[in-house]
Amino acid sequence: MDKCVRCAYCQVGCPTYEMSFSETLSARGKIRLAQALMDGALEPSPRIAADFSMCLSCLKCADNCPAKIDTVALFQAARADMATARGTSLAQRLILRHILPFPARLNILAKLAGLATVFYDNAPDMLARFFPFSVKGKRRVTPRLLQTNLRALVARGKGHGAPREGALRKVAYFSGCMTDLAYPDTGLNVMRQLEQAGVEVVYPQGQVCCGAPAWFAGDNDTARQLAMKNVEAFADLDVDAIVVSCATCGSVLSHALPMMLEADPRAAAVAGKVVDFQKLLVELGVERKLASIPGKGKLRVTYHDPCHLKRGMGVSAEPRILIKSLPNVEFVEMAGADVCCGGAGAFTLEHPEQSARFGQFKARAAQESGADIVVTSCPSCQLQLADAMSRAGLDTPVMSAADLVAMVMEKS
Ligand code: SF4
Ligand code: SF4
Repeated sequence: MDKCVRCAYCQVGCPTYEMSFSETLSARGKIRLAQALMDGALEPSPRIAADFSMCLSCLKCADNCPAKIDTVALFQAARADMATARGTSLAQRLILRHILPFPARLNILAKLAGLATVFYDNAPDMLARFFPFSVKGKRRVTPRLLQTNLRALVARGKGHGAPREGALRKVAYFSGCMTDLAYPDTGLNVMRQLEQAGVEVVYPQGQVCCGAPAWFAGDNDTARQLAMKNVEAFADLDVDAIVVSCATCGSVLSHALPMMLEADPRAAAVAGKVVDFQKLLVELGVERKLASIPGKGKLRVTYHDPCHLKRGMGVSAEPRILIKSLPNVEFVEMAGADVCCGGAGAFTLEHPEQSARFGQFKARAAQESGADIVVTSCPSCQLQLADAMSRAGLDTPVMSAADLVAMVMEKS
């Protein structure tokens, strides 16, 4: 906090500041609030908690900051202090502490939510508009949660092949909850494409949520509990890398995990092995194989940079390289490709109207690019963008690069 020189560079491109021009919704303002809380000049209050919750954790401010302040980690620490001082809601405690760390319970909750979404999706418009998910009377796109989850598919032997002799690399796949529960086909495509590139893939069944929902809510005890389970699941594996296909999971595992478990050197070792699947595929030269398949550009594809992939993990070129190498695909860049989509985990549930406004901007930019398909590398962004497109009256599909590669290769 002492490093802040009040230069206001962090306000440039900050979605919440540019939406409100409220100082406390910028990083500089939040740093002042955190300082005042720490000095005792301010007491934790609902108003201050609301200011800290109005942040997408998009890392734009950290990227701009000349003093290299880890703003998002600082806000997380402030939220954790406030959660300790003010407590958290019963629903939050129930979900974060008693469901999230237990994959079987999380799967049951997902299936119950899946049943609720079937009812919501099929309810008459007159009724659906009154549901809490609906924004301004418009129905929200819901995830498909009733399908068999990835973890179960892998346990039944559908995930990946047998250990291979002479594999180029051996990796462990960390799917994350959203891919596990809502996008299992994406997880299968990721593993298959890695295997086709000569990689041996293992899927540790001991893996749990990366901890992002607890960490960003300031529930450090739960985040640590999850971090410990993941370290136990991955630390002793004889693998070259831990592959992720969810930007938020990747950013949390590579950046926040060592903060969650400061005293455990295994956490830093696990964090050091985390790599995005697109980066690994390009490292293995997959784009050269894809480019050698004949076909002319017919399908126009654009790409949305998830904040946690571009600014959190420094990956933005590789997804574009993969897309551009595909036969029958023409890549088109959309305006503001790296502007936050407004999904941001719990943000979309806590601030649905603001979240929908950020989504609107992305839907317009995707439409103006003339794309037939929008690709992104984070299941949370994928759901938010699908909702934004639907709200804008567009039927443009949104998918991960793994799904696009699988779809195009099937048709080639
Ligand atoms: S850019 Fe960094 S140093 Fe400048 S006001 Fe923002 S947080 Fe402070
Ligand atoms: S993380 Fe994003 S939304 Fe939050 S203060 Fe920084 S720029 Fe603004």
